[in-house]
Formats: sequence, structure tokens, C-alpha cells
Amino acid sequence: MIEKIKKLSDLLCESYSEKSLYHSLKLFFEQDFGVDVFYLSFDNNDSGGSAFIYPLYKDNQQIAKMVFSEKTAELVTFLDVFSPFISLKIQNIILNDKMQKDIDFQDTMKNIAKIIEAQYELSYIVPLIGEIIDKFFENYLIYIYLKSEEDPKKNILAWPTACNDPRISEVVPDLEMADLSDDNKIYSYPLISESNNIGMLVAKSTEAEITPIDKEYFVQLAQQIATTITRANVYSEILQHATLDALTGFYNRSQLEERVRQEVANAKRQHAPLCGIMTDIDYFKKVNDTYGHAAGDLVLKTIAKVIRSQLREYDIAGRYGGEEFSLLLPFTNINEAQMVAERLRKTIENTVIDISKVNNENDVREIKITLSLGVYQIKESDSDSDLMKKADKALYKAKNTGRNKVVINDD
Ligand code: GH3
Ligand code: MG
Ligand code: MG
Repeated sequence: MIEKIKKLSDLLCESYSEKSLYHSLKLFFEQDFGVDVFYLSFDNNDSGGSAFIYPLYKDNQQIAKMVFSEKTAELVTFLDVFSPFISLKIQNIILNDKMQKDIDFQDTMKNIAKIIEAQYELSYIVPLIGEIIDKFFENYLIYIYLKSEEDPKKNILAWPTACNDPRISEVVPDLEMADLSDDNKIYSYPLISESNNIGMLVAKSTEAEITPIDKEYFVQLAQQIATTITRANVYSEILQHATLDALTGFYNRSQLEERVRQEVANAKRQHAPLCGIMTDIDYFKKVNDTYGHAAGDLVLKTIAKVIRSQLREYDIAGRYGGEEFSLLLPFTNINEAQMVAERLRKTIENTVIDISKVNNENDVREIKITLSLGVYQIKESDSDSDLMKKADKALYKAKNTGRNKVVINDD
């Protein structure tokens, strides 16, 4: 999905007319979805009468439609996520025809839309957007306000870090609609995406009154920013679901392996120590057999929580398999890793798990379980996969020599 979004983003960026947009879209949907695009219509009078028609909306108004040779679930999902950008692009093209488009403005819009590809968090995206529009509006000071999480009626300054004009800082937090100051120098415009008001964009002219043309740019930028912020949130959610294990919230196997590669490369580059820990719950089959699968799942969740609480923020935890967790400890040597593993082992040994709500098999309310752990520190000569393989070897030894213990592999 991300690859496709990237590709289409690039194609959209390169299209400046109805014709080139149509050709880009046709090529893209043919190659990536195996469907033909019959036509892209900016007016909505003619109806194809055939196949699959996908209307494009801007501000609740249909501004165009796309006609496809067939309808697939994958296509619909993609369009539902991405069509606001196509709509935005179409609106741009319509406006540009009227308005002798300004190259700088297009660059600014492009750069904002492109931010989405980087898949950053919101805290990172907002300053990037701020800097991009600041560059475009040379004679203005720009402020981005976003709705407060605690009080969704209040707008809170998100960029830059401070505003010392009380006409902004005292007024904008409560604004819901567009607002122009009496001297025509401060213009506030709501950030609205998919009919949600997510904040305000504010421009303060440091020179003359705000011109109608600048206002028009400003309104379009506000729309682009609102769409970008909202889409970025959607993507990061999609991404999260694709990479995180649903039960534990840890990285899943494939993402874990990716992180192992990154961390091993990083450790080698920086000549920094890196340790891997493999863990496996002792006699876990018995938990399932005695108390049921739901109790087993609860044990897994509990162990995952304990593991997370024992790690530093930049340590990495992944679900390697069913009841096997892998931990990556960057900037950690074998002695430190052994201490972490030992502390983890003890904490789990002492953790009482209340299974009364999920245990349908018998009357037991509380159980305790233990964990076996294998620890290994990567060497210069090791390959990526050696880290977890050699930690696993130590884990195997822990299992064979009594369980509920930490074993170091120091070969
Ligand atoms: P050992 O001490 O040798 O590790 O014994 P064990 O019983 O834990 O053996 P093993 O590690 O081979 O057991 C894995 C079991 O974990 C098998 C499977 O029933 C259980 N399991 C794997 N994934 C899940 C899961 O998502 N939920 C539940 N409830 N059980 C799982
Ligand atoms: Mg196992
Ligand atoms: Mg086990």
C-alpha cells in the first residue's frame, strides 16, 4: 500500500493538466490494480453507464469522477484512502487554469503532500509543514494550531513554539471559523479534513494588508495541510497494524527481523555493543491444557507487559513466535544484558496472574509461570541472523538444564 501511495504521489506531482493527470492515473491503475481507467471527467454531466464509477469530492461537492473497467475490493480501499489527494489535485488543476499558476506555490503544495511518504509522527510532521509554508509566505508569520486532545473545543499552538501577539494567542484558541482582523493583517482559517475541524492556520502579514490572491493560496494550503495531517494519521495506523502483533503490541516476526538487520548494521558501524535475548515460557502448553487458551493468551499479554516495563525506551521487543519473545538491547554489553535478563526472569517468577475472568476449566484464580532466557552479544564477524540464532542456542541450554534460568552464549 505504501509503495503504491508513493508511486501515485509522484505521478500526481508530475501532472499539471487534465490530460496528463488522466494518463498518469490510467497507467498507474493499469499497472498496479489491473483495471482500465476509461476516463476522468472534470464535469459530471455525462454518465458512462458502465463499469465502476468513483466520484471525487471536494468540500462535499462532487468535482469529478473516475470511471474504471471493474470494481475490486483492493481498488475501493485504496481510493477511499487516497482519493482526497486526487480530488485536491483536480481542484488545483481547475484553479490553475484560471489563475496562471505560481511555480513556488505548486512546490509548496507538493512538498506538503510529500511529507506523508516519510511516515513520520505528527509531532514531526507539523514543524516540517510549518517550515514549508513559512518559506512560501515570505512576508508573513505563520502559525499552526491543532485541536487539544483534552478539550476538543480549544486550539493549541503546535508550531512554532510561541506566539507573542495577543491578537493571535488570545483569540485563535477559541476560533472555529475563518477570521480576518480589523486591520486586514491577520487571517485565520480552519483546518478542515473530511468535515472534521482539526485546528487553525494563521497568517500574520508583517507588511501590507493581506491580498485576495494570498488569501486564496492560504485557503488552499490550509486544505492541503489538513488533508496531509489527517492522512498521515491514517497511514501510521495502517502501518502499525501491519507491523505490530495484535495480542502483545510487540513487533511481529517480519518487522522484528527488519529491526535486527538495522540494529546489527548500526552496532557494527558505530562499534557499539548489541545484545539479543531469546525467551520462551516454561511449560506453556500446560497452561493452555489446564486453564484454556484464553488463559494462555492472558499469560502472553501479561508477560509482554512485564517485559516492556523492564526495558529501556530504545530497547526493542518482538514476538518471535507463539510464546517466544525476542529482545534487542542496543548499546548494551553482555554483562548488562545478563543483568536485564536476570531481573526479567525474577520479576516474572514473582508475578501473580489473575486468570479468574478467563479460566473456564477449573477453580484456580491465580497462577504463576516462569521464563527461560538465552543471551548473546554480537561479534564483528557475525552475520545478521547470528544474533538471534546464538541467543536461541543459549535458550535451548537453559531449557535443557532446568528452565527458569538465564544462560549466556559466550562462544
Ligand atoms: P517448554 O518449557 O519446553 O518451552 O514447554 P512448552 O510447553 O512451553 O513448549 P513449547 O514452547 O513448545 O510450547 C509452545 C506452546 O505455546 C504451544 C502452543 O499451544 C502455545 N501457544 C503458541 N502461541 C499461542 C498463543 O497465541 N496463544 C496461546 N494461548 N497459546 C499459544
Ligand atoms: Mg516455544
Ligand atoms: Mg515454551
